[in-house]
Amino acid sequence: MTKRSWKTNPFIGAGLVALAVVAAWLTYREVKPPRRAVEYAHVLKCDNPDCGKVFVESYPEGQKPPFPCPSCGSPAYPALRCLGNGHIFPLKKDSLSRSPYDCPICGTRGVPLEPGDPAVTEQRANP
Ligand SMILES: [Zn+2]
Ligand SMILES: [Zn+2]
Repeated sequence: MTKRSWKTNPFIGAGLVALAVVAAWLTYREVKPPRRAVEYAHVLKCDNPDCGKVFVESYPEGQKPPFPCPSCGSPAYPALRCLGNGHIFPLKKDSLSRSPYDCPICGTRGVPLEPGDPAVTEQRANP
């Protein structure tokens, strides 16, 4: 090997490039900000029939309802609106005979409420 062999040897040259790439990648990983949990707004309905509050709760992906109702503390589940009679009911697996997406009154399928729905009475963020 001569003094200039590291510059002319293609294998060593490629190795140096690869090292530089790895070093840059490691640096990039270190300066990258830690991943923050993205919060999504969901419309929830209180499961307590005497309360029945419909509200918006924001929580990170991965967290699962029920969450406590801000009014009475009862568990609240994602709110669905029946496509048949417009009844709003919580998405809750409480029966083996019907899908949790089906209205408990008429059995018609329900669709999730949007956070801007007029039935929503309160917006809040999950701490
Ligand atoms: Zn409630
Ligand atoms: Zn219904």
